[in-house]
Amino acid sequence: MKDQANTVKTTNVLIVGVGGQGVIMVSKVLAMICQMNGYHVKQSEVHGMAKRGGSVFSHVRFGEQVWSPTIPVGEADVLLALEWAEGLRWLNYLEPTNGTFITDTQHIVPPFACLNRKRGADKVYSKETPQQIVAEVSNGLALDATTMATELGNPRASNTILLGTMSTALSFPVEEWLEVIAQFVPPKTIEINRQAFLKGREWAEKVKVETISESDFLLENVIQLDASINDDFELRLTREWCKGCDICVKMCPERCLALDAEQLVELRYPDRCTGCRVCEWLCPDFAIDVIKPSTQRESA
Ligand code: SF4
Ligand code: SF4
Repeated sequence: MKDQANTVKTTNVLIVGVGGQGVIMVSKVLAMICQMNGYHVKQSEVHGMAKRGGSVFSHVRFGEQVWSPTIPVGEADVLLALEWAEGLRWLNYLEPTNGTFITDTQHIVPPFACLNRKRGADKVYSKETPQQIVAEVSNGLALDATTMATELGNPRASNTILLGTMSTALSFPVEEWLEVIAQFVPPKTIEINRQAFLKGREWAEKVKVETISESDFLLENVIQLDASINDDFELRLTREWCKGCDICVKMCPERCLALDAEQLVELRYPDRCTGCRVCEWLCPDFAIDVIKPSTQRESA
């Protein structure tokens, strides 16, 4: 991996994911640390679909003088993917000879991938394995950041785990990363984000001293790739957070949700639910969670 401090060349970092994962937070942290180190920085982002589940990406370019805010195809020195399929979609942006691809192995299957709405039906989703992709790129790191963050106590810190992993591809000091992260996360979550950053960084440093293709540690952290095609899931409603806006009721493709007499969401027809997660992504108040075993690690 390259040391950007020793080159006048512009360094390009592309961060991709889906709405609600924290792509913009990662991008802002990186842009800020670049500015602190005296670089000229340009950042551009698209998050019009940032309502949970929509595609989100951000380009960060830094160097002595940066002219364009967008990274040309094939010139990303680092491609950081917070969601697996989003990473694959943007792989053509990775610089082919020395680019670094870092990705969460988490799958977020969009509603349009559910062509067959029956329970347990196969989804139209990437079938490539992390091992296959890591073997194809010059530098590849695939980790189950979501499970690692869950083990720390907050699955939403997975973006900070990936930020920690990405930090090993750049040469800014650890203390500066932690200082900037603390400015961008809610005060109550500073400590867990600190732990998440260090965990992601430690993971990358351990993997880099091993042969990646033979790394047991890498394999331990790979999500079960077929987990999304079984029907083992639980729909969890947090009624205290529901404000009765009716969005989930209207948008559920199976019409299994309803508002009860208190105008709060209830799962009225559980047998119809396919676990498609449309309701989870669209609820503005995070009142619905679809818990799937895809967030559990494969036993080593
Ligand atoms: S309740 Fe939610 S997960 Fe179940 S079918 Fe409806 S939108 Fe999909
Ligand atoms: S979208 Fe969320 S807040 Fe709105 S009714 Fe459904 S659960 Fe309640």
